[in-house]
Amino acid sequence: MSIAHNIETIRRDLPAAVKLMAVSKNVSVDLIRAAYAVGIRDFGESRIQEAQTKQQELADLPDLCWHLIGHLQGNKVRKAIQIFDWIHSVDSMKLVQQIDRVAAELKASPNICLQVKILPDPDKYGWTIPELFAELPQIDACQHLKIRGLMAIPPLGLTITQTQQFFEQVRDLSHQISQQSRSNLQMSELSMGMSGDYLPAISAGATIIRLGSIIFGDRNKI
Ligand SMILES: *Cc1c(COP(=O)(O)O)cnc(C)c1O
Repeated sequence: MSIAHNIETIRRDLPAAVKLMAVSKNVSVDLIRAAYAVGIRDFGESRIQEAQTKQQELADLPDLCWHLIGHLQGNKVRKAIQIFDWIHSVDSMKLVQQIDRVAAELKASPNICLQVKILPDPDKYGWTIPELFAELPQIDACQHLKIRGLMAIPPLGLTITQTQQFFEQVRDLSHQISQQSRSNLQMSELSMGMSGDYLPAISAGATIIRLGSIIFGDRNKI
């Protein structure tokens, strides 16, 4: 199947308000160009170095929007702010404060999502719900960030019903935070849904879906 065909198929089920991010980790720039040719402008990468190399090779495409979706280490915060428009994987108070400090130095205001861990999951980073509420005042005090919403990844092994409930819980958490009317926390975006679960994510209110293999094919076979 061609990338153009895959993207057209996905778009048929996509409400206009949902942004389709193509996750291009491990994907060649030729395939990124194929997605660009059919209108994709948002690309997600997990690693700084890989993203930077691709950006250099794609410098002739002026209107790309790059999203960091992988865990960010403190020593790479500066580079991340310089090369990404969005950081979806902001997963600790320490990281929020580092990004805020470096953003101030660089006179940047990165778009960020707070990664939450709604269910226990040893494989993932992110705030649990109580941790997040405890730290909201400190997060809200960061002046150099555009905090756009929440990001979440369900743990492996959930049933369809549990996956649906998981996404609804993320949405409800986002509403709860909005109701606290904190000045800096926008909570207008919900970054959730991957190739295997984007339809339930959309029903629960996802505004940004992050799709890799369903667009580009199995990463291990490329
Ligand atoms: C790899 C990755 C995706 C895309 O996964 P697919 O199952 O290939 O769609 C989405 N989000 C994050 C955070 C990822 O690491």
